[in-house]
Amino acid sequence: MELPKINFFNLTSTMSTLIFATNNNNKILEIRSILNDDMQIIGLREAGIITDIPEPHPTLEENAREKSNFIFKLTKSDCFSEDTGLEVMALNGEPGVKSARYAGDDSDNEKNIEKLLQKMTLVNDRTAQFRTVISLIVNGEEIQFEGICKGTITEIQRGNKGFGYDSIFIPEGSNKTFAEMEMSEKNKFSHRKKATSKLIDYLNNYYGKNQN
Ligand code: IMP
Repeated sequence: MELPKINFFNLTSTMSTLIFATNNNNKILEIRSILNDDMQIIGLREAGIITDIPEPHPTLEENAREKSNFIFKLTKSDCFSEDTGLEVMALNGEPGVKSARYAGDDSDNEKNIEKLLQKMTLVNDRTAQFRTVISLIVNGEEIQFEGICKGTITEIQRGNKGFGYDSIFIPEGSNKTFAEMEMSEKNKFSHRKKATSKLIDYLNNYYGKNQN
């Protein structure tokens, strides 16, 4: 596929644009709400890339790398991807890397939640964590950033904001589920916010140093 070459991180401008290798609009909105004004991200559809990148590996790190490499090979432009999993301690880290397809290949959110709550019916230890791994490729080199948010799994779904497993996860330091929070409140706790902050620090430092 021949794509127009976009001038990513145009150093003569104050506005920087980076491809985010995802089709998940919720993730794009969350990361946009964290970025400052001089950094812009565009999802795959906005970049004119119509594809579903496979996530065949047993770890978040490998899947994140697979996605960023795939887009880098296609565009030869700086880009990043992220992979997130919900890791439940009493289930030895399940659903983990399988979070999206926990209840089957159709990635049905309601079925995933139902399966998880069902498996936890007799479980006392309801501690869990969301873990995000971001894989960034700048100048052909890959670097990863991790963000972890610890919390607990509820017994029933609460709230209707957010996405994925948000309605059954209460982060440490709150008594609301993520789905009962506005995005700005979720950002005070979230795995994605923590990983993205590391990404922003790295990019500010990298482009600050490489500007002349
Ligand atoms: P993936 O990173 O797109 O593979 O997402 C894995 C699974 O975790 C999907 O079912 C997502 O809906 C879910 N997920 C990813 N991030 C979050 C989040 O911030 N809150 C709740 N669920 C999430």
